[in-house]
Amino acid sequence: MLNPKTPRPSTIPPLISGGIMLSYHCTNACRHCLYRCSPKRPNEWMSLEMAERVFAALAREPALESVHLAGGEATLNSELLLAVVQMAIKHDVRLSYLETNAAWCADLDETLRRLARLKEAGLPGLLVSASMFHLEFVPFAHTRNCVDAACQVFGRHNVLIWLPHMYAALDQMPDHHRTWRLSEFCDHFGLARYDERLPGLYQTIPAGRAPEALRKCYTPYPAERFASERCGHDLCSTTHFHIDLYGNLITGFCAGIASGSIDDLHPEITPDRSPIVHTLCEEGPFGLSELAKHEHGFVRRHEGYVSKCDLCYDVRRQLHTTARFSELRPVDYYECR
Ligand code: SF4
Repeated sequence: MLNPKTPRPSTIPPLISGGIMLSYHCTNACRHCLYRCSPKRPNEWMSLEMAERVFAALAREPALESVHLAGGEATLNSELLLAVVQMAIKHDVRLSYLETNAAWCADLDETLRRLARLKEAGLPGLLVSASMFHLEFVPFAHTRNCVDAACQVFGRHNVLIWLPHMYAALDQMPDHHRTWRLSEFCDHFGLARYDERLPGLYQTIPAGRAPEALRKCYTPYPAERFASERCGHDLCSTTHFHIDLYGNLITGFCAGIASGSIDDLHPEITPDRSPIVHTLCEEGPFGLSELAKHEHGFVRRHEGYVSKCDLCYDVRRQLHTTARFSELRPVDYYECR
C-alpha cells in the first residue's frame, strides 16, 4: 500500500545547494561518515575534464545557490583543489567553503600558507570538522591550528566549526597532541562506551557507516517497523546534493545511490530508467527488501535494523552483487568497510 500523503516525484528537481566530492579517499574512516570515506577507498580523484563538466552543468542550474568542496579529504590533492576553485570562479558558480578534517594542519605556518593560496585562488571560507569521531584520527592540536589559521585568512565569519560544542569538548581532553579512541573520550566524559546519546552529540544520521560502527548505541527493530516509510522526499531533496568524482549525483543523504549523473541531472524516475530510486520513492526500503527477497533471495537480518537507511543499505548491498543495477554507484561503496 502506498502512503497517500507521499507525493510521487517524477524527476529530480532543480539543484539548490550541495557539494562536489573530489574523492572518496580520506585520512580518516570516521564512524559517522555517510559516504564511507576512508584511507582504503581508491586514491582516485575527479579529473579536470570531469570538473569542467560538473561546473558547466551547475552553471546551467536555475536555482543553484552555492556549492562547497569536499572529499574524502580534498586537501590531500592540493593542486587539484586549487584548479577546481579557479574553475568554479571561471564558470561563475558560487563557492561557499571547503570542508576539511584538519588532519593536514600539524604546523600552523604551513596551514596559513596553504589556506592563503586557496583564498587567493578564490575560496571564500572553510568548514572544519570537529568531533569525537574525528578525534580518533586527528589530534585536537591540528583542529585548533586549522581553525586559528582559517580565522586569520578568511575572517572569523567565514569559518564554520562543525560543531562548536564538540570543539569545546575536544579542547577539554587532557592531551591535544595525540588521538583518542572513542572509548577513551567516553571514559573522560563519564559516558557509557556505547551511550545512546553519542550519535546525537554530533547530529549523526543513522546511515552510511554509522549503523555498523555505532550499532550498539542504537536500538534495533524488525524490518517491518519501517514498512510505511517512503523515500521520495529524501531522494528528491536537492538542498544537500553531492556530485562525486565519477559524475554521480547523490541526492538527500542517500550515499551509494546515483539518482542522476552529470549527463542527466534530472532523469525521469520511472521503473525502467531508475528501478531502485523508483521503488524507494514508491515503496521505501521495506518494499525494496520485498522485491529483493522474491527476485534475488535476499534474507533480512535476524538482529534487525537501527534505521530505514540501515535496512536500505543491507538490501542494496545484496542487489549490488547482481551487477544489474547501474544506480548502485560507485560500486566500491558496497565493498568497503
Ligand atoms: S532508506 Fe535509502 S533511499 Fe531512503 S533515505 Fe535512507 S538511504 Fe535514502
